[in-house]
Amino acid sequence: MQILHISAECYPVAKVGGLADVVGALPAYQNTIGHEAKVIMPFHKTAFVERASTKVVYCHDLVIYGKTYFSEILQLVDQELGFPVFMVRINQLTDRKNVYGYDDDPFRFLAFQRVVLQWVLEQEVLPDIVHCHDHHTGLIPFMMYYCFDFERLKEIPSVLSIHNAQYQGQFPHEMGGAFPRFRESDIGLLDWDGMINPLAAGIKCAWRVNTVSPSYMEEMKQKANGLEGLLAHEHAKCIGILNGIDTHTWNPETDTYLTKNYTIGNRVTGRRSNKKELCDEFGLDASKPLFGFIGRLVWEKGADILPDILIQALHQFDINIILLGSGFKEIEDRLKELAVRYPGRYNNHIGYEERMSHQVYAGADFLLMPSRVEPCGLNQMYALRYGCMPIVRATGGLKDTVIDIKDGGFGIRHEDVTVAQVVYSIGRAVAQYENQKQFKEIQKTMMHLDHSWDHSAGTYIKLYKELKE
Ligand code: ADP
Repeated sequence: MQILHISAECYPVAKVGGLADVVGALPAYQNTIGHEAKVIMPFHKTAFVERASTKVVYCHDLVIYGKTYFSEILQLVDQELGFPVFMVRINQLTDRKNVYGYDDDPFRFLAFQRVVLQWVLEQEVLPDIVHCHDHHTGLIPFMMYYCFDFERLKEIPSVLSIHNAQYQGQFPHEMGGAFPRFRESDIGLLDWDGMINPLAAGIKCAWRVNTVSPSYMEEMKQKANGLEGLLAHEHAKCIGILNGIDTHTWNPETDTYLTKNYTIGNRVTGRRSNKKELCDEFGLDASKPLFGFIGRLVWEKGADILPDILIQALHQFDINIILLGSGFKEIEDRLKELAVRYPGRYNNHIGYEERMSHQVYAGADFLLMPSRVEPCGLNQMYALRYGCMPIVRATGGLKDTVIDIKDGGFGIRHEDVTVAQVVYSIGRAVAQYENQKQFKEIQKTMMHLDHSWDHSAGTYIKLYKELKE
């Protein structure tokens, strides 16, 4: 089957969060089981792209509001990603350093989606499935079905994966003129709450919709940033499919980012070396239990309560904490202050550092994930694979992947996002750490768990096949 994935991010080309990891792994797994999956994404000026070799495979003059934007599609060459990657460069619009965060993002992503469809339209062989990811590609199913220019694509089934419904990409109807022509009476399909809402339009128009974990799908019917009614209404075509992880990239045995590689067999010494390296680098004490946090410093991740958690935990327990992340400036500033206040006990790197994230999974004893919203969450699965015990709030994918030690599992769960509950969980972790014999056994169980894409990649294929029948 020919599968076209359309996404704003794809690891290692451009990564902001989990979306990149998924789009950087799922197509490769689909190809290993005999399909032809490729990825098309905007051209971002990342360090990876600046170094990469590319060839131009398509050019198009995109006209919006009478203005012409020269666009071209570049294919990555000499890469061994396991799938072809195409990048859409639109003069003045996509050729930028960051993936998101510009005032004209709605316009940029609309233009990107138009060029993608124009390119698909001109292919000799059409894809069997168009797989869209998140709101940045949510207008594709609408355009394929309702815009006159893309009439030829009407019969191609489209799937929309929702990785995060907090972000929906809304923009005012005044920008409606930037679409290719469609019947005026179809405008309602784009609308949600008086705005053009790409995620809502995707949910309405895609043939199938999935979230990246079953629990998140259930939760979204109750609370989805205004889309709960729509999801409940469209429930018949919605399904939750748990993300997998790329077990080739995320393998402690071969991970080139680690100071010391290790297997399940020598996990204790291997992890000790990685912890020592991490602690030396950040002025921490490797003989104490080490708690880590990795992620975007935003409300959904519970990052706003992290400073208070850190203060209380450092007062109550003899532990060390390391944090890697970036996001809201006020949170970043408070965390930086704490690093000054608690030298030798807490430290952080405010920013994005792929290498360090791997070292934290391999060196920290516990990973904190006090998320308010977690559509799937990959961090806990990486942590498990590296033998680092996750401490999670039981929500979304965290609920689907982490079983508490008191229920015979391998992690620590709490129900609410409160400082008290997280600090209580940290106390449980400290008690667990003191029982080293059992702790090491649990690490073994964690590392044996299989969260690879093998299973979920097949579930997506099954879903595509149902749509082709
Ligand atoms: P989300 O996509 O909501 O940010 P996920 O858990 O799905 O959360 O994926 C997060 C991914 O981003 C993981 O691969 C994690 O290791 C990585 N990550 C997040 N923040 C950072 C950071 N500051 N530096 C390096 N990697 C990070």
